[in-house]
Amino acid sequence: MQENEEMLEMLNKTAEALRKNNMQAFVAQNCRQAVNLVKDLMAEGETISCGGSVSLAQSGVMDLMKSGAYNFLDRSKCETREETEEIYRKAFCCDTYLTSANAVTMNGELYNVDGNSNRVAAIAYGPKSVIFIVGCNKIVKDLDEAVARVKHTAAPKNTVRLELDTPCAKTGECISCKSGGDAGSGCKNEKRICCSYLVSGFQRHKDRYKVILVAQPLGY
Ligand code: SF4
Repeated sequence: MQENEEMLEMLNKTAEALRKNNMQAFVAQNCRQAVNLVKDLMAEGETISCGGSVSLAQSGVMDLMKSGAYNFLDRSKCETREETEEIYRKAFCCDTYLTSANAVTMNGELYNVDGNSNRVAAIAYGPKSVIFIVGCNKIVKDLDEAVARVKHTAAPKNTVRLELDTPCAKTGECISCKSGGDAGSGCKNEKRICCSYLVSGFQRHKDRYKVILVAQPLGY
């Protein structure tokens, strides 16, 4: 009980810091609330797209996206690399882009790392609105912890999930961890998923980012 209260306090503090950075921020007690918030933030019939995200699937937001109420640019339906690339480019002009974040700091920053880089590109600029679904497991104290979170948790788990033959998929941590490598250091593997690094701090476009912090773990 006390743990839950402490966690909600942490989420509320983080939400307040995000608001100070010109982002909308919400705390959802559970996935059902998170899905309802997403519903309120999108108009039926609008064009939506998303980055690859376990959190979207686990939370039920992906089911909402596929419900038929929206014009969903769905890359999972693409059969060729060309079709997928076209969806990636069309996503830059969509109304709402949905994704998770690799980490959210209690200072109100979002940290995202990408291999193909279409996701961080759309987060930074393009879609009119960006909705983030973030489980409580992704809240960290500061950017140092965010970098460490990707190297020790997010990247290794995602490379295993995606069956990529990277060093971290075998050892459970980034190859750069032992040498105390900085954010951009890592392997030279062709399948590396850590290539582009985006820190979203204070936003010039107020409320373009909508961050939903969920009081339960989601994704990696
Ligand atoms: S740089 Fe390479 S080894 Fe390091 S986390 Fe990324 S994919 Fe894994």
